[in-house]
Amino acid sequence: MLSVSEAIHVVQKQTRRLPAALVPLAEARGRVLAEDVIAETDLPPFDRALMDGYAMRAADLQNAPAALRVVGEAAAGRGWRGTLKAGEAIRIMTGAPVPEGADSVQQVELTRETEGGTVVEIDRPTTPGQFITKRATEVKKGETALRTGTTINAAMMAALASFGYARVRVGTKPRVAVLATGSELVPVEARPGSDQIRDSNSYSLLAYAKAAGAHVELLPFAGDDQKQLQQLIAESAARCDALALSGGVSMGVYDFTKAALYALGAEIFFERVSLRPGKPTVFARLNETLIFGLPGNPVSVSVTFNLFARTALRAMQGDAQPALVEEQAVLGREAKGTVERASYLPARLRTDERGQLIAEPLRWGGSSDFVAFTQATALLIIPAGVRALPAGEIVKIVRLPE
Ligand code: AMP
Ligand code: MG
Repeated sequence: MLSVSEAIHVVQKQTRRLPAALVPLAEARGRVLAEDVIAETDLPPFDRALMDGYAMRAADLQNAPAALRVVGEAAAGRGWRGTLKAGEAIRIMTGAPVPEGADSVQQVELTRETEGGTVVEIDRPTTPGQFITKRATEVKKGETALRTGTTINAAMMAALASFGYARVRVGTKPRVAVLATGSELVPVEARPGSDQIRDSNSYSLLAYAKAAGAHVELLPFAGDDQKQLQQLIAESAARCDALALSGGVSMGVYDFTKAALYALGAEIFFERVSLRPGKPTVFARLNETLIFGLPGNPVSVSVTFNLFARTALRAMQGDAQPALVEEQAVLGREAKGTVERASYLPARLRTDERGQLIAEPLRWGGSSDFVAFTQATALLIIPAGVRALPAGEIVKIVRLPE
């Protein structure tokens, strides 16, 4: 039986990156950058005033207060073309280029104009460079400002805009079909009869797949009927990059997912992972479509989707780090593991008074307890073979996507 990390490795190995797409900059946030972004200009592109005030030579203010002749004005977007000489100053606004000859700016609050605006009295001296952001001190032309494989956030939008990326090359959103199986399922609008339950997995899978950047389609349920399942898998696989199935992967008489995949001639890479919850997870491929057969219990489905299917969806988009990233936290109270399998247990993260990240395992009723799972913000990892970990232990966690 594969370990979780081995299974993730297999998923990554079988996942093909989709060709990149060009999108308008306004739609790029949240997408995976598919090109390095090179600084097209120096930033700032010119020596730039950081304050409203006057630009002059620091040497002229050595014995400040001093009076200087006002010879012009530089505003943002409209610089003063000339060379400033000894004894001269120009009025300057934040964002305006500092002219040749000037080496400092004094803020307007320490100045006053006299003689009808032809002279400025400046109260205090400046040091050379004061209130000037020198050209290229932020970014030099030709530098790599953003790297391929990173997810575009709001701050990166400004960098893209500054370098003229009106359209941005990003990873294509994978098309994912979500298929719930089980003869006990009824849709959310219906009132379950005795022996029935509402389908909840389709909606958690829909949300997690969207959070992973996919286009998602909800398919009609398949009952526990192999022929119907085969038909839905074959039809949807033909138009999708990935399928997320829930249910029907255990050892029950009516668990038909694996049989359907075999009958369709899908290549099956694994059918079990050393994982609690989520052992009977299936990973297969039918033609170019990756298929995830996830155990039906609502918590298992969320755990296994995020460990395996999410990794594939991120890798399809070219994410340089497609799998959930392991971090460390301090265990808030004792947590129990099992001998044969690694446990990925729902936990809530918080920060204590000393600023330490604490992982508090949830009190939950097992892998069907999706109401308790709503409180989870992370999964706490207990390695196989560890029976229990005491409070205070340093543990590994992965954060759950929102
Ligand atoms: P299975 O993996 O098909 O054996 O299902 C395991 C458990 O998860 C059973 O109690 C199912 O009723 C439940 N289950 C399966 N599919 C869903 C679903 N789509 N929504 C909610 N619960 C489900
Ligand atoms: Mg079932």
